[in-house]
Amino acid sequence: MDAGTAVTKRALTRDALLSVVAPMFNEAANAAPFVEEVLAAVDALGLPCAHELVLVDDGSWDGTSETLDAIAQKYPGALRVVHLTRNFGHAAAVSAGLDHARGAAVILMDADRQDDPAAFGPFLQKWQEGCEVVYAQRVLREESPPKRALFWLFYRAFAWMANVRIPLDAGNFALLDRRVVKQLQALPERNRYLPGLRAWVGFKQAGVPVPRRARYDQQARVGFRGLWTLAMNAVFSFSYVPLFVFRIAGLLSLGLSLAVILFALYHKFFTGRAVLAWASQLVTTSFLGGINLLGIGLLGEYIARIYDEVKARPIYIVDRVVEPPKH
Ligand code: UDP
Ligand code: MG
Repeated sequence: MDAGTAVTKRALTRDALLSVVAPMFNEAANAAPFVEEVLAAVDALGLPCAHELVLVDDGSWDGTSETLDAIAQKYPGALRVVHLTRNFGHAAAVSAGLDHARGAAVILMDADRQDDPAAFGPFLQKWQEGCEVVYAQRVLREESPPKRALFWLFYRAFAWMANVRIPLDAGNFALLDRRVVKQLQALPERNRYLPGLRAWVGFKQAGVPVPRRARYDQQARVGFRGLWTLAMNAVFSFSYVPLFVFRIAGLLSLGLSLAVILFALYHKFFTGRAVLAWASQLVTTSFLGGINLLGIGLLGEYIARIYDEVKARPIYIVDRVVEPPKH
């Protein structure tokens, strides 16, 4: 067997550590039930190894911070709470979580009960069989039909235009091997679309079908604007298709203008019939104006991202880390 296709089977030993990472933004009401559910699920697996839960408080202002610190005291040695200095957004909070996890395997999930801990078992199974990335493939979504339809469309359109192979219906919920976490940490990008970056780093990957549950409080913290930003980050970080479309539109409009010029010349020299100047000009200028503006807008999306990268601000800032030691 050649070295590139060799599969490393892993055994969970006593010295191994499993991390579960979750970002939280204003989830005070759900903090305790969430921690309980996750720790119970891990306990139920009866693993020989130790585990830790890394929770990132992404600048919450509803008491999540204090609640998490209190919960950490209840589970000494099992919880690490990373408080950020303000709300940096879901992707940044996830990066902070990954940077503070120490496990040989790291499970990344949302803290709103949508990601079912029942998937931990199948995740670990695939990891032990040799996969470095095991992602949840959302087979069912307990969400509103318009949101479901938009996600369905987004995953397909994005997979079609992305310059890496992106698995369909796979969000953030996944298990990552330490090697993958290291590679993700080494990527300097500030606009981080994790499912894209995760596909980009490669390694052996597998999907596990997991139904996505309903949010415990029906109040999305990311919101439509956040999802739109995420979608734009995905597209402009992993695809040049928008530029290609713009180029095709440019070529088409050039062809159209040539046809109009030839049409006018033909009438001038061969039939002598005048072409109505104002009508043709109005159509062509507004058409070209529209295409130009669209093109500038699209270029702007790429340039804004270059600007973000050049500024090289940190992805997040940590205020404090709370980690009660085991006695
Ligand atoms: N979240 C976060 N920072 C934010 C927004 C959300 O850490 O600025 C967390 C949130 O607490 C939850 C997860 O990210 O644990 C996913 O958020 P949400 O459920 O709103 O996203 P959706 O499921 O709608 O994509
Ligand atoms: Mg959610």
